Amino acid sequence: MALTHNLGFPRIGAHRELKFAQESYWQGDSTADSLNITASALRKRHLTLQHDSGLDWLPVGDFSFYDHVLDTSLLVGNIPSRYRAEQDNLSTLDQYFRIARGRAPQGTPAIAGEMTKWFDTNYHYIVPEFDHTTTFNLNASKLLAEIEEAKALGIAFKPVILGPLSYLYLGKCHSTDVDTLTWLDALLPVYERLLDRLQKAGIEWLQIDEPILALDLNKAWQGAFSRTYQRFAALEHTPKRLLTVYFGPLLNNLKTALALPVEGLHIDAVRGRAEIETVHAQWPVDKVLSLGVVDGRNIWRSDLNALLDLLEPFHEIRGDRLWLAPSCSLLHVPVSLQDELTLDPELKTWLAFATEKLAELDLLKRALQQGRTKVATELAQQAQAIAARRCSNRVTRADVQARVQALHRSPADAHLRAPYQVRAAAQRQRFALPLFPTTTIGSFPQTRDIRQARSRFKAGELEKAQYEAIMAEHIAYAVTAQERYGLDVLVHGEAERNDMVEYFGEQLDGYAFTRFGWVQSYGSRCVKPPIIYGDVARPNAMTVHWTTYAQSLTDKPMKGMLTGPITMLQWAFVRDDQPRRQTAEQIALALQDEIKDLEAAGIGMIQVDEPAFREGLPLRQQDWDDYLQWAVQAFRIATAQVRNDTQIHTHMCYSEFNDIMPAIAALDADVITIETSRSNMELLAAFTHFAYPNDIGPGVYDIHTPNLPTVERMVELMSLAAESIPVERLWVNPDCGLKTRRWEEVEPALVRMVEAAQMLRARA
Ligand code: GLN
Ligand code: ZN
Repeated sequence: MALTHNLGFPRIGAHRELKFAQESYWQGDSTADSLNITASALRKRHLTLQHDSGLDWLPVGDFSFYDHVLDTSLLVGNIPSRYRAEQDNLSTLDQYFRIARGRAPQGTPAIAGEMTKWFDTNYHYIVPEFDHTTTFNLNASKLLAEIEEAKALGIAFKPVILGPLSYLYLGKCHSTDVDTLTWLDALLPVYERLLDRLQKAGIEWLQIDEPILALDLNKAWQGAFSRTYQRFAALEHTPKRLLTVYFGPLLNNLKTALALPVEGLHIDAVRGRAEIETVHAQWPVDKVLSLGVVDGRNIWRSDLNALLDLLEPFHEIRGDRLWLAPSCSLLHVPVSLQDELTLDPELKTWLAFATEKLAELDLLKRALQQGRTKVATELAQQAQAIAARRCSNRVTRADVQARVQALHRSPADAHLRAPYQVRAAAQRQRFALPLFPTTTIGSFPQTRDIRQARSRFKAGELEKAQYEAIMAEHIAYAVTAQERYGLDVLVHGEAERNDMVEYFGEQLDGYAFTRFGWVQSYGSRCVKPPIIYGDVARPNAMTVHWTTYAQSLTDKPMKGMLTGPITMLQWAFVRDDQPRRQTAEQIALALQDEIKDLEAAGIGMIQVDEPAFREGLPLRQQDWDDYLQWAVQAFRIATAQVRNDTQIHTHMCYSEFNDIMPAIAALDADVITIETSRSNMELLAAFTHFAYPNDIGPGVYDIHTPNLPTVERMVELMSLAAESIPVERLWVNPDCGLKTRRWEEVEPALVRMVEAAQMLRARA
């Protein structure tokens, strides 16, 4: 009989209990003891819940106070040198938070560990740091304590650790460009000691996550896998090792993985669907094969009958050495549907969050063990929901489908504008901007007043008219302020938006929103991604009202502000019943209509934000071209039908453009604003190297810190930019939106920025 297990469970709690406990501890409002009590209660609740779902093996060690990669750094004793001096004087918890966030209730502030995205998810991990002072030292106290806690519950569990190769690969060496593989020999003894300890603690199975096997690895890294796992296999004392790979197929790492001396192998059977048969054929039957058949990255119910068709033959051969699991840790989906009382009841039957996914696994297991007829009623229920979703008229809309079809018939629609030079001339004439025009990225401070008004409005305590009057006031305030600072191109400030994706999603057909669908983004931060369940269409104009209102308050150009199709996709749970590109096209068409409406209402500049454009890049390079092709196309569908003298802006708030420069140029936005201040304009190199042809606004100050930028620094940065980009094509703006800042910070910063632009003009 097949067994079921889980790779990891969301830590934050169904109602974000951990978040509130963390934040209260950080603010000094509660003690470490009370944080530990909340954490321990959550761990027990989650283990019990998983146990009650019928799982055979539960994960332990997947809990984290901030991030599991940082936990691994502490497990192997890799503390970056800048924290070391103070380590001894602090509690373990404060040492940990000091690295995670640069501060803890005790100890002096320090520069926090760098954060970056965990593969292609929206989860951020703390990047391990390596340098010539790096040493390793086993400190398994956290893991061992969680193991003891789980033992007391009397349930079958397997500890989870991040494997040594993934740990090294995800880290960085700052001082030189030394490959982090260099530290493998120093690191392995620590892992060996850990395996020894775990076996002696009575652990039978250990889950070792090596997700980098889903990436393009070179020969050196592949070779290191064989070396490492051979050493583990040769240990006198070691638990059985379940090597887990997720987030994609193995492809060129298949041979390496299949040759590893481990007792079990888990593969992502959702994204790696095409490889299952090969792995089954080649992985020995006396070893465990774990198939991650339930999608851990999305929230749709599984088609269990189809899965049983696939699994039954494997089960016949492998019996209890066939394990079933979610494709990856359930960290990336919300905890449970149970409290979603306001979600449309039909839509709800199509969904499965973490808890419901475990129930699916259990049903699969019982169907394999007892035969489908024994669980026929449950299977029929599941099948009915799947069938209903497939033919629901809330999913498919003929008008939207027809429009996408028409688009495919005449793709030229995405290329209607004249070349940049012609447009630039028309726009110069229309707007008559000075050299080094100044602007901002869109949002102005989301003050307490604004947030309070919105929550009161949502709670029904404010009438729509009252709420709108308050928003109008804030927008007017932002417009007047910008005029006072002397900015050239204004924005309305996004007061009415709580979130750049949610705001549009709420106005589009085909989108749904949950109440408690929280997913951890980093530390205590969670996001609530909307669910795109059906064909996307725009019933009404979304931004015309506020944008024209803002424009009516000023003679300066008012930039309309929209969120681009890729970001709308990337920060949502996207339907899995059609290719992502098709959903992107539908969103693009909705934006096309919005842009036309803005243009018709007299708005001359429109910004289409795409902060998630690069994030959407597939993990494997072989898939990049295809993605970039449709991602660019989606942007162009949205933007490329406007008049030549309408100026299209875009914004991307990150720094690595090297790989995707041709695609960035192909977007053909008239102006792109990017983040550069932190890297000393270094990343402009990609733009100059590629001879990027259009206007650029390299962010001149970092909005992520409350520190005031100086005029000199901004002038210096722009002068650096002017060395490689003609001044006629340079804009002056901050790095990103100002919504997280306070007015007291924004005002002096922007006044100085305008001053810097004036100095630059005087010199030009
Ligand atoms: N227009 C958005 C803002 O200013 C852009 C945010 C972003 O790039 N993430 O807030
Ligand atoms: Zn940004």
